[in-house]
Amino acid sequence: MNIAVIGTGYVGLVTGVSLSEIGHQVICIDVDQDKVEKMQQGISPIYEPGLSELMTKNIHEQRLSFTTVHREGLQRADVIYIAVGTPENKDGSADLSYIAQAAKDIAKNVGGNVIVVTKSTVPVGTNDLIKEIIQTHLKQGLQVEVVSNPEFLKEGSAIHDSFHGDRIVIGAESEHAFRVIEQINEPFGIPIFKTDIKSAEMIKYASNAFLATKISFINEISNICELLGANIENVSTGMGLDQRIGSQFLKAGIGYGGSCFPKDTKALIQIAGNVEYEFELLKGVVNVNKKQQGILIGKLNNCLPDISGKKIAVLGLAFKPNTDDMRESASILVTEELIKQGADVIAYDPIAMNNAKSILNPLIRYADSIDQAIEGSDAVLILTDWDEIKNVDLAVFSKMAKPLVIDGRNCFTLEAMENNGVEYHSIGRPAAAKLIEATSI
Ligand code: NAD
Repeated sequence: MNIAVIGTGYVGLVTGVSLSEIGHQVICIDVDQDKVEKMQQGISPIYEPGLSELMTKNIHEQRLSFTTVHREGLQRADVIYIAVGTPENKDGSADLSYIAQAAKDIAKNVGGNVIVVTKSTVPVGTNDLIKEIIQTHLKQGLQVEVVSNPEFLKEGSAIHDSFHGDRIVIGAESEHAFRVIEQINEPFGIPIFKTDIKSAEMIKYASNAFLATKISFINEISNICELLGANIENVSTGMGLDQRIGSQFLKAGIGYGGSCFPKDTKALIQIAGNVEYEFELLKGVVNVNKKQQGILIGKLNNCLPDISGKKIAVLGLAFKPNTDDMRESASILVTEELIKQGADVIAYDPIAMNNAKSILNPLIRYADSIDQAIEGSDAVLILTDWDEIKNVDLAVFSKMAKPLVIDGRNCFTLEAMENNGVEYHSIGRPAAAKLIEATSI
C-alpha cells in the first residue's frame, strides 16, 4: 500500500513512522523545508520518546521518505492521510485553512483514485467539506473517498500509544473505504470501531472535552480540599478506585495545556453554538482551567507579597513531561506574571528550553541544571512533573537562604519536604509549614 501523509507535526510524523514500521510504503510531505531536511537525515524535529530510533530504522529500510514537493508525495499514493494543524481562531472555532489547502494540494497532485483519511481534529461536517473541495479541483474521471480517523495519541508517549492504543476509530461511507483502512491498521492489533463520519469526528472532540472535564473537576475539588483541610491525593486515590470513575486524568494540578485540550474544548463550544446549543458545562471547564493555570501566583504572593527584584526559579516549562511542546503551557502565563511583578526569573526544563526561548518573555534567564536554577533563589515554582524534578535530591533546597517551594504538580510528599526544612505549598493539600505548626501544638 502506498501511503502519503500531509503534515509532519506531532501527529503526522508519528503516523508516518508507525505506518512504515508495520510495513507500508510511506512518504511524508511538509511545507516546512527545514523540518523536511532534518527528517531526511533521520533527525526528528520534535522530542518524542522512541521516535528518532524508529524513524532512522524505517528510512534505512527504505519504507519511509520525506519531501516538500506535493506532486512527488501524492502522485502514486493509494491512501492519503491529512495531519495538518487545526489551530484556534480568535473566536475559539477551529481554523480550517490548512485543511482546505491540503485538500486543494491533493486534488491537484493525485495520479489516480484515492482514499483521503483525516487524522487532524476537525469539526463535525469537515470531511464533507474536504470531499467537496477535492472534487471541485480534481481531474475529471478520478474518484475520491473520505474517511475520518481521529488521532488519540498522547504527546510524550505517542509512539507507545500508536502501537498500544485503546481503539482506532474509522468513520466512512463505503464498505470499500472501511475495508482498506481496516487492512492498513490490522497489524497494530488494536480494536477498531467503525462508525459514520460525523460520529467519528464528534468522538474526538467529545473524548478530549470529557478528559478536560475530569481535570477541571478534580482541580475544583482540590481547591475545596485546601479550604477544608482535606488532602486531594487521598481524595483522588479514593475516587479513582471506583472503576466507573477511574484514576486517570484525576490528578490535581495547574490545569491542562498543550495543543489539543485548550483548543478542542473551545472549538466544541463553538460547534455546539453553531447549532444554537449552549454547552454550559464545557464553558465552566474552560473557565476553571484558566483560573487554575494562574493559581501558583496567588500562593506565591501569599508567602512573598512583593517579588520585585526577587529571584524566582521556575522548574519545568513544557505543558507536561516527556514533550518539548510549549503550546498553551501554564508556564507562559505564570512566567509572564512573574516578570510583570518585577521578579528575576530563572527557568529550567530538561527538554523544552529551546522552544521556550522563542516563546517566553526575553527577560527570563535559563539555567543549565535544577541546582543552578535553585541556588540563591527566594522561591521555587514547579510547573511540570518531569522525572528529573520529582527525583531531585531534596537537599538541593538547602541552597536557598529560606527554602520556599510552590509546587503545581504535587511532586513531593509533605513529610519529605517537612523533613528537609522546606516551606512547601502544593495543590489541594495542607502546607508543609502548617503541618509543622499543627504537630508542635
Ligand atoms: P503541528 O502544527 O505540530 O503540525 C502540522 C504540520 O503540518 C506542520 O509541520 C506544517 O508545516 C504542516 N502543514 C501545514 N499545511 C500543510 C500543507 N498544505 N502541506 C504540507 N504540510 C503542511 O500539528 P499537530 O500537533 O501534529 O496536530 C495536527 C492535527 O492533529 C491537529 O488537528 C491536532 O488537533 C490533531 N491532534 C494533535 C495531537 C497532539 O498531541 N499534538 C493529538 C491528537 C490530534
